[in-house]
Amino acid sequence: MDYLKGLNPSQRQAVEQTEGPVMIVAGAGSGKTRVITYRVAHLIQKGIDPFNILVLTFTNKAAKEMRERIMKVVGSEAKNIWMGTFHSVFAKILRVEAEKIGYPNNFTIYDTDDSKSLLKAILKEMSLDDKLYNPNFVYGRISMAKNNLISAAEYLKNDQIQADDFSTGRGQLGQVYATYTARCFKAGAMDFDDLLFKTNVLLRDHPEVLHKYQHKFKYLMVDEYQDTNFSQYLIVKKLAAVNYNLCVVGDDAQSIYGFRGANIQNILNFQKDYPDVKVFKLEQNYRSTQNIVNVANSIIKNNENQLEKNVFSDNDEGDKVRITRSYSDNEEGKSVAESIIQERSTKSLDWNEFAVLYRTNAQSRSMEEGLRKLGVPYKIHGGMSFYQRKEIKDLIAYFRLTFNNNDEEAFKRVINYPARGIGKTTIDRMIVAADQYGKSLFEIALNAPQFLDNRAATAVGNFATMIQSFAAVAKTSTAYDAALHIAQHSTLLKDLYDDKSVEGLARYENIQELLNGIKEFSEREDIEDRNLSVFMEDVALLTNDDNEKAEDKDTVSLMTIHSSKGLEFNQVYVVGLEENLFPSQMSLNSRADLEEERRLFYVAVTRAENKLHLSYATSRFKFGTLVNCEPSRFLDEIDPKYLEIDLPKKSAFVSNEKSSFDNERTLWKSTTGGESKTNDVFSKPKPASAQKVKTTALLSKAHVPSPDFKPEDTSSLQVGQQVEHERFGFGKVLNLEGNKPDIKATIFFKDIGQKQLLLKFAKLRIV
Ligand code: ATP
Ligand code: MG
Repeated sequence: MDYLKGLNPSQRQAVEQTEGPVMIVAGAGSGKTRVITYRVAHLIQKGIDPFNILVLTFTNKAAKEMRERIMKVVGSEAKNIWMGTFHSVFAKILRVEAEKIGYPNNFTIYDTDDSKSLLKAILKEMSLDDKLYNPNFVYGRISMAKNNLISAAEYLKNDQIQADDFSTGRGQLGQVYATYTARCFKAGAMDFDDLLFKTNVLLRDHPEVLHKYQHKFKYLMVDEYQDTNFSQYLIVKKLAAVNYNLCVVGDDAQSIYGFRGANIQNILNFQKDYPDVKVFKLEQNYRSTQNIVNVANSIIKNNENQLEKNVFSDNDEGDKVRITRSYSDNEEGKSVAESIIQERSTKSLDWNEFAVLYRTNAQSRSMEEGLRKLGVPYKIHGGMSFYQRKEIKDLIAYFRLTFNNNDEEAFKRVINYPARGIGKTTIDRMIVAADQYGKSLFEIALNAPQFLDNRAATAVGNFATMIQSFAAVAKTSTAYDAALHIAQHSTLLKDLYDDKSVEGLARYENIQELLNGIKEFSEREDIEDRNLSVFMEDVALLTNDDNEKAEDKDTVSLMTIHSSKGLEFNQVYVVGLEENLFPSQMSLNSRADLEEERRLFYVAVTRAENKLHLSYATSRFKFGTLVNCEPSRFLDEIDPKYLEIDLPKKSAFVSNEKSSFDNERTLWKSTTGGESKTNDVFSKPKPASAQKVKTTALLSKAHVPSPDFKPEDTSSLQVGQQVEHERFGFGKVLNLEGNKPDIKATIFFKDIGQKQLLLKFAKLRIV
């Protein structure tokens, strides 16, 4: 039982309490995920069959890492544990059981793009205004309904929902939902939310299936339980209802998916659902320095809605948390890149020990630019997946259609790509016919002469027979041979090969990469069935973290805060800490939303092990225009004693600059409706004792460089010379040491005192 030595007493108790309901609610970095990992290893050591263990994680990557760790303790048996995200685990079960609820076993999984494209088509057919019925909005509504297990029929019958929709002029939403559901069903397709919704339907309507899985999964564990929605909650509850060996871990302070229907109540209600639950508290944070933990605590205590927790760290006090201000988003990207280079060299770190976290995907642009310019290798995680690229989706659509002829979105995607002279009018005619006769587009295509003129009928008919021939080939070939055959005979490969532009070349290479991946799959020895239809099963659920290449290993990670959950990095940069960005503008409507935004900040901060950097820009491009930005209110909530802020006094020049900025700010506020009002409504009055100097007030005194400021090559700087630093202001060189290009200068700055700087990175000008 050597492996149990890596646990503290409460963690160990939680691991050894293998029977009955167990809940661990604890702060970030306190070892919740570690407890689950060890618990699984412990169960297997105790003789539990890995096939009887189900572990639900938040990402596929988390599952993969957990499995690797368990493997170290129990060996290759760990392969047999059922482990993955809710979506991937239940997609796997639905593949076996789908026919019971009227779906083919080879059902297609529609990704978000497919769903939105179908919704657009439906909105058009129903002649609904796509501004009022914005497809993103409609998708969100349907998703929310499904995650709350409200079917289209129930949606239409619910007076409250109907009244709400009518009052916003969107009375047809229920009808859109119903049509969307019917069309997915006809196409043999499930969207992401269906994977959970239909699992619920399956378990509700088929007691024998429920019984089978209740007995199969004797031990259930759920990580990040605070972010499960109602649909997920119910699946877990039902599956655990025989053995009651359910262990959930989570942190209410890290609940960040409210917008997706996740429900913090799940944690709060656990004790009601399982009165004999054993609750374990973990209070020691093993991940971060004391300064980081203290900063995190000082942020989260501003939320009213939270469970009482005492999180502490026994690690070193560590560096103070650094706050940096930049003049623009591009500047911010540059300053992050410079800081990473400097920290990496002074602390001898690898690139992969750094992460840059942002609130919105759009912010990755300026970060990428900054990193690229300075040659810092990076990888965007959780962003657009390899499998989301157009050319990959095109080829996969051919595969989908081959295995599921009814797949409407795949059909529309490739019927005329590569071009085969089938125009929009022909396709529209087919859609009308499909609707009129209750047939799929593919069936219409097989009987094309009945519906189309000769020329169009021939082209469409040839397409349908080609797809049928693909199916015949796929039945008798390996996955790779089938995929290559389809890529060639659909002429997709040739079309990409003929495009000699840089983008065309990249697309061709991507297809090659996909084919290589399929080849590897064809040669795997650990799975029995290696044909293309098996490869296709969960392709829609893969993210770009699932095809990580060796050269991606030592790179800086860029990701949204949402996708950073559960991860940890030596150094973390949280960027864009500005009002209306973080907290986001949309969160300013209610206290609940603002508190969720604050939890998101808490998640970001607690990813850091040794050093946390926070930054904001005073101007940023948004929707193509440059807007001025104010520092985030969250910065004010941090106790300044844990912060490292540069505080030079203003020079005469600064005050002039400031007044001209003020005019623009007033102008901007009057056009955006101002934000001070929302500030007044939502900022919580602080008790007198908590009054402190505002961090952002201190920051606003930072040095503003002279208008003609330009960093210069200072490699021949002399002791005694006067310099201006971009942020530290004016100073005098006291000492120089080291050789080019690593000369270190000791400079006495008028406003902030003595600093040591590496000249090659320092933004200095000689005065
Ligand atoms: P989060 O809330 O962010 O998901 P968590 O509670 O799941 O965090 P873990 O990721 O399990 O925390 O643990 C945080 C870090 O602390 C990991 O690097 C883990 O290996 C380490 N750790 C946890 N417990 C111990 C321990 N008893 N001894 C040494 N290291 C530990
Ligand atoms: Mg965790």
